[in-house]
Amino acid sequence: MGEGMLSFFGVVKKRFNGSNNDDDNRETVKCPRCQSLVFLQKYEELHRVCPNCNYHGRLSTPERIEITFDEGSFRELDSDMISKNPIDFPDYSEKQQELRKSTGLNDAVVTGTATIRGIEVVAGIMDSRYMMGSMGSVVGEKITRAFEYATENKLPVILFTASGGARMQEGIVSLMQMAKTSGAVKLHSDSGGLYITVLTDPTTGGVTASFASLGDVIIAEPKVLIGFAGRRVIESTIRQRLPEDFQLAEFMQEHGFVDMIADRKKMRSTLYHLLKIHGYGED
Ligand SMILES: [Zn+2]
Repeated sequence: MGEGMLSFFGVVKKRFNGSNNDDDNRETVKCPRCQSLVFLQKYEELHRVCPNCNYHGRLSTPERIEITFDEGSFRELDSDMISKNPIDFPDYSEKQQELRKSTGLNDAVVTGTATIRGIEVVAGIMDSRYMMGSMGSVVGEKITRAFEYATENKLPVILFTASGGARMQEGIVSLMQMAKTSGAVKLHSDSGGLYITVLTDPTTGGVTASFASLGDVIIAEPKVLIGFAGRRVIESTIRQRLPEDFQLAEFMQEHGFVDMIADRKKMRSTLYHLLKIHGYGED
């Protein structure tokens, strides 16, 4: 696990004088925020958090499930749904086949039911290893169905978002997912259900512009990137320099877009307390 993930950080292999066996101990990763080199082993022990600046790195879906939910409680929904190639985009089907093999995922989101200290929730975890977590028909449909399942069974929803935006390989079909998922969120909300989003690195584009921003409570992990369009696109459109911390979680919290920033090591208890104060797990 984690092969694809590591490539994001440009793994640097370093050899130190006098050390001998076990290459793993000497492998380092470069933090994309503060650029410091961190021993891979240390980084993994910290669940991919930079010990220097507290940037919260990208996790794979299995890693996220393991650190968030009660052991063995995750039951996947719609696990075998795979997307077609609706606009006959060149090489799209082949690319997906490869990714299914290399990541073990069928698309960029996994949904299911799980418990957090015994409280049942519907959960969705997006994975940036799969086409940068982009939203096509399968991501949209699985998220919509997860909300429908939650509405029907009176369960809260917790989504971990990570996305580069809409999936251009599915053209207009991917844009339609924004309206569809937003509709499902609204019906769940109207029925009184709680919806918590956890924005992880990066949450951008059509996912930010739909379900990621619709949580009753919007949590972000420290130092992650949250935005709609990229910095360069905005700067060249408005012809102004943007602040250094533009689109970082902390900037988004200061400007009211994010309710709270929660450290990964406290995520499980943060979610548990939010569920409790909203009346879940009382009976
Ligand atoms: Zn760092």
